[in-house]
Order: sequence, then structure tokens, then C-alpha cells
Amino acid sequence: VNDSYGHGTGDQLIRAVAAGLKVLIPQGAVLARIGGDEFAIAFLSDGENAAALQLSEQILDFLVEPLEIGRRVVVVGASIGIAMSPAGAIDREELVRRSDLAMYKAKEAGRARMTLYDPSMDADREQRNALELDLRIAIESGDLTLAYQPLVDAGTHALTGVEALVRWNRPGHGPVSPELFIPIAETSGLIESLGLFVLRKACETAKQWPELNVSVNVSPGQFRNPAFTDYVRYVLKQTEIEASRITLEITEGYMIQNPQRTRQSIERLKGLGVKVALDDFGSGFSSIGYLRQFGFDRIKIDRSLVMGVNEDKRQREMLQATVALARSLDIPVTAEGIETEGQAVAMRLFGCDCLQGYLFGKPLTAERITEMLDE
Ligand code: C2E
Ligand code: CA
Ligand code: CA
Ligand code: CA
Repeated sequence: VNDSYGHGTGDQLIRAVAAGLKVLIPQGAVLARIGGDEFAIAFLSDGENAAALQLSEQILDFLVEPLEIGRRVVVVGASIGIAMSPAGAIDREELVRRSDLAMYKAKEAGRARMTLYDPSMDADREQRNALELDLRIAIESGDLTLAYQPLVDAGTHALTGVEALVRWNRPGHGPVSPELFIPIAETSGLIESLGLFVLRKACETAKQWPELNVSVNVSPGQFRNPAFTDYVRYVLKQTEIEASRITLEITEGYMIQNPQRTRQSIERLKGLGVKVALDDFGSGFSSIGYLRQFGFDRIKIDRSLVMGVNEDKRQREMLQATVALARSLDIPVTAEGIETEGQAVAMRLFGCDCLQGYLFGKPLTAERITEMLDE
């Protein structure tokens, strides 16, 4: 059960879900709470998985409806994994293990999904476990590094800042993309120490560049932690960096689910003197009307939008309107993923004051950034 609004898996909620499930399951089926917010349903079928798929669909349909818990209305969803034991050939523990694995696949695929177990999931899981173990070692032994991508003034193209991007060279495998290992760090609880490493390293390095702004990515898992502000305060103090030179970039996913908490967190962070930017704007569902209330210091337009600026008339118009709206809220806008002169010119014309992309520089070593400043 996924309680998407973060109200927690209180007993009342679990009881309400269980009551609903009891009504849905076929006669003779067994319903058990495995622990936390996980349930298992076991039943005999005719050897086909149609019955299990049908039941799963009914459960997902049931959970689509908001549940009334006390005076609160709670929206929940479920990720469902299905495993079969033909002619009872697979023992109970293995069956639970397989459905659990399938459930995690369902979770990864997005909300409200059901997934049938297949043997390739075992290989995937093993690879993932190995990756997670190596990542843990890399964090503990300080093997992660940071690359710094230039941020330039839209008018003069002068270097005004950098975005710190984490890099991992996995022994025996080569570089692994953060888009692959950040989500793993999130689900395995490693994100806290990874995030702390990145923040500290970025702040330490920033001290050699008093003229630059340094942006640091904050993942939802970090931001969700009530102690995150304390971490930031601690690192700022420890590294003695000027807080106003640090920008924390957060993405919109978490914000939509928890507007109230997001607003509070942003307020507290701003209280420390750091800037807060909304990253990947336009890639998801964010409504611009939302933006004002969060008090973002900056918006970063997602690369996927910028890419088509000179190709597709409609996309161009949408982009233009988006930037104009942000500007009307007095929020400065950065365009990311600029690869061509044409894109740079267009984004400046639309009102972006800051540009980022391969045209101005790929993510570089700290030494290269220092050289650029000396040039
Ligand atoms: P992001 O925050 O949107 O970062 C920008 C990504 O776009 C970077 O990929 C950068 O190398 C790439 N990029 C920049 N300009 C261009 C361009 O002109 N063309 C193309 N094709 N790509 C461009 P990278 O470094 O692979 O990072 C991917 C994502 O991983 C980041 O997206 C961010 O969400 C996450 N990430 C990276 N470092 C960190 C970190 O230290 N902490 C957290 N939480 N997330 C991180
Ligand atoms: Ca859950
Ligand atoms: Ca970013
Ligand atoms: Ca981005």
C-alpha cells in the first residue's frame, strides 16, 4: 500500500484497507498482513494467472477511491506482485519471495501497477544488490567525485556559477550514470550519506571560487528528511561558506505530493541564507500557479523542453509562455541543456538570465573551472 500523501501507515488506514480487501477476495482465500503496509493474499486457482490479475485489478480499482479515515480523506494506492505455484511445486517461502520481487518491480514501474513474477527478476535483483553494495563501499571510502558544469550569464556568456554533479567510477565497470545510482541510493537509505558528501564537497570546493554561485542537487529522499535543514546548517558552519552562494536544486515530484511540508522546508532553508531552485521545470506536472507560494529563488527549465525550441512551433510557444509566467512572478529562469547557438539566442530572447549546457561546457573537474576563471 502506498500512502502517497505521506500521512503514514497508521493503524486506522491499514484497518480500512484490510476491510476493503476482505470484501474483495474470493472465498477460501487467505488475507494476511505481512508487516508495515504490506499484505499477502493466497488462493487456489485453476492454474492460470487470469484470476490473480483480475483480483489485482479489482484491488487497484477499490484503492482508487479516497478512503475516509476519521475526519481525513486519504488517497492510497497499491503495487501488486503476483507469483504462481503450479501444482503446488513451489514452497510457500519461495512463493512469497517471488511475489515480493514482482511487487518491487511493480513499484519501480510507477504507481498502481501489478506485475507477474518472471525468473529474469532474480538476475536483475542480484545485479542491483551488487551495485548497491559497491555504491555503499564507494560512499564509505570516499570514491565518489564531483564534476562542475558551467552556468553562464545569458547576455555576456560569462561564467557566473557551476552545478555540482556527482560522479562514480565503479571499479571493474567504469562510470555509472547518476540517473541509475541515485534512485538506488534513495531506496537503499544511502542517499543521506551520499547527499551529505556532495553538499560538503561542493561547499568546500566553492571556497576557492568566491565569485561563483554553486548549485547542489537535493533528491526527494534528502528533502523529505525533517533533519535536512540541520544537515545544511551544519555543513555551512563547518565549511564556513557564504550561504547565499549556495543554491539547492529540488525537483517537483515531491513538492506536488507534499505542498505543505515543501513550503515549510523551503522557508527553513531560506532562513539559513541559501537559495532554493526548482529543477527540471516543465518535465512533469507542475502547474505554474503553484510556484508563487513556494518562494523559489530560481526556476530551471528542463532540457527536454529546451531541446525542441527551434524545431517545433507549438513547443516554442509553450516554452515562451512558461518563461514569461515565471518572469511575471519575478522568478529568474535558467535554461538547461543548451547545445546550440540557436537555442541560446532563443532562450535569452524569452527572458532566461542564465544558461547551462554543453555549448558552454560539459561537467568539468574543479581544476578546469579554476583555469577557466584564470583565463
Ligand atoms: P540534472 O540536475 O537535470 O542535471 C543536468 C544533467 O544534464 C546532467 O547529467 C548534465 O550532465 C546533463 N546536461 C547538461 N547540459 C547538457 C546538454 O547540453 N546536453 C545534454 N545531453 N545533457 C546535458 P548527469 O550529470 O548525468 O546527471 C543526471 C541527473 O542525476 C541530474 O539531472 C540530477 O537529477 C541527478 N544528479 C546528479 N548529481 C547529483 C547529486 O549530486 N545529487 C542528486 N541528488 N542528484 C544528482
Ligand atoms: Ca509502502
Ligand atoms: Ca540539477
Ligand atoms: Ca535539471
